[in-house]
Amino acid sequence: MIAPIRIPRPALALVRAGTGEGEGGPPAAPPDAREAIVVRFGELFLKGGNRGKFLDAVRLRTRRAVADLGAAVRPVHGRLIVEGVGHAPEALARLRGVFGVSSVSPAWLLGAEVADWERLAVERAKLARARGARSFAIATERPDKAFPLRSIEISSRLGAAVVAAAGLDVNLGRPDWTFHVEVGREAVFAWEGALAGAGGLPTGTGGRALLLLSGGIDSPVAGHLAQKRGVVLAAVYFDAFPYTGPGAREKAVDLARVLAGPQDALDLYVVPFAPVQERLRDGAPADYLVLLYRRMMVRVAEKLAARTGAVALVTGESLGQVASQTIENLACIEAAATMPILRPLISFDKSETIALARRLGTYEISIRPHADCCSLFVAKHPVTRGRAATLGRLERAVDWTAVVDQAVAATETVRVGEGET
Ligand code: ATP
Ligand code: MG
Repeated sequence: MIAPIRIPRPALALVRAGTGEGEGGPPAAPPDAREAIVVRFGELFLKGGNRGKFLDAVRLRTRRAVADLGAAVRPVHGRLIVEGVGHAPEALARLRGVFGVSSVSPAWLLGAEVADWERLAVERAKLARARGARSFAIATERPDKAFPLRSIEISSRLGAAVVAAAGLDVNLGRPDWTFHVEVGREAVFAWEGALAGAGGLPTGTGGRALLLLSGGIDSPVAGHLAQKRGVVLAAVYFDAFPYTGPGAREKAVDLARVLAGPQDALDLYVVPFAPVQERLRDGAPADYLVLLYRRMMVRVAEKLAARTGAVALVTGESLGQVASQTIENLACIEAAATMPILRPLISFDKSETIALARRLGTYEISIRPHADCCSLFVAKHPVTRGRAATLGRLERAVDWTAVVDQAVAATETVRVGEGET
């Protein structure tokens, strides 16, 4: 049974605008407010009974993301507060990238004195005004219901101070600048703006899958999208060495290293694929080779998946992108699998995939010029509507089970990321 957690809505208080000119107001002394970063989670709150597990996972990932910067992370009323790194852009960027994080905000930790909150509000309001803001709102949330002032009273006090000392007008509908105050039992803090986080679900809460990682643009993006849903990946690269140079394998290793980021370490299985390809080339027509390669990849991948506890495969396939990815051909590939094949890019346009690859930092690696194994020996016009029965017949002729077993036996494991040697 899902028990939704109520998130307090911001209580907006309407404050009458004064003249804002020369009315004294609180002194403009720098307030005693420590810089910190607030980290929020989105979907985690929907997870009912699993909520504790999800929170633990996202906390762990948040901590690890900024540990080497000297940050301390602690939970406060359903958020995390990160202290010790100020508002450092590097810390903000890393925190935004943690899966499960919906947004982060540079924030100021406050003491119990409302007068100090007023001083900070006024100081920030003056800066906002200098940047062009003319109207404002104070939004107070009060997770600590025991706090003696109600949200509306807090907003009114801070609002009055801002009107008096910074000369901004109240506008609760469309303020140019909003000052948020959150009054919790463990901490009181203020913030102005929120930066979008990576979203998704925390790493480790989505099980394990094995990514078929080529050196191309698509598969690393597909892997990232699986990771975004909490999946921990291992990856497999089918290496056509010596038909492709060592640079092709290096690409796969470098891509795997990017994917290792959110999960510390990642095992990349490198399968010598040239013997498999030669065997198929000698026993099957060239226009079927791409499909035959794919089906062999799937079979080898499943055996490797079993080693690592993965229960699904992930590929970068996208419907209709190339001849091997017609719906009929995807069906042929799938027919060789017993595990589910996740295809996060199934509906992506290439331009969407490229945009995401650029953001991830995989694009520059993927476009290094090295041939992919799938272009080896293949016909200029591969079949676009393969039939599993035909493929099965061709495979029986080459004793495919022995071919798969040999490939698995010859596989090398490369660990990338943390603890890499
Ligand atoms: P990518 O850019 O990921 O290579 P693509 O659009 O070029 O994808 P294909 O080359 O047809 O498409 O490959 C489809 C999918 O098959 C890839 O996304 C990947 O998951 C898998 N794949 C292809 N070649 C290899 C390989 N050498 N090693 C591992 N997986 C591969
Ligand atoms: Mg490719």
